[in-house]
Amino acid sequence: MSTKRKSGQLKDGKYLVLTESEGKQGVGFTHSCGTEIMGAKVAHPVWDGPFPMSGSGQVKYTTVPYCTKCETTPDFHGMPVEVGPKI
Ligand SMILES: [Zn+2]
Repeated sequence: MSTKRKSGQLKDGKYLVLTESEGKQGVGFTHSCGTEIMGAKVAHPVWDGPFPMSGSGQVKYTTVPYCTKCETTPDFHGMPVEVGPKI
């Protein structure tokens, strides 16, 4: 068993895995290992309430690209998005 890299890492504001891949947005990317890049849906709870960790229950979805061979599957439960000032 080889150790997989954690998916969803950023480099200079871009997904690290895409900087190592060839392809185009909308067409598809192939990682340097030859594996097609997959996209995983990640849910970010939106904390738009007045208190930390409070909100209306909205969820924002993003798609995180990852290599199924080299990287772990992105965690469906992503980082929360904090909106507005907190008390
Ligand atoms: Zn790969």
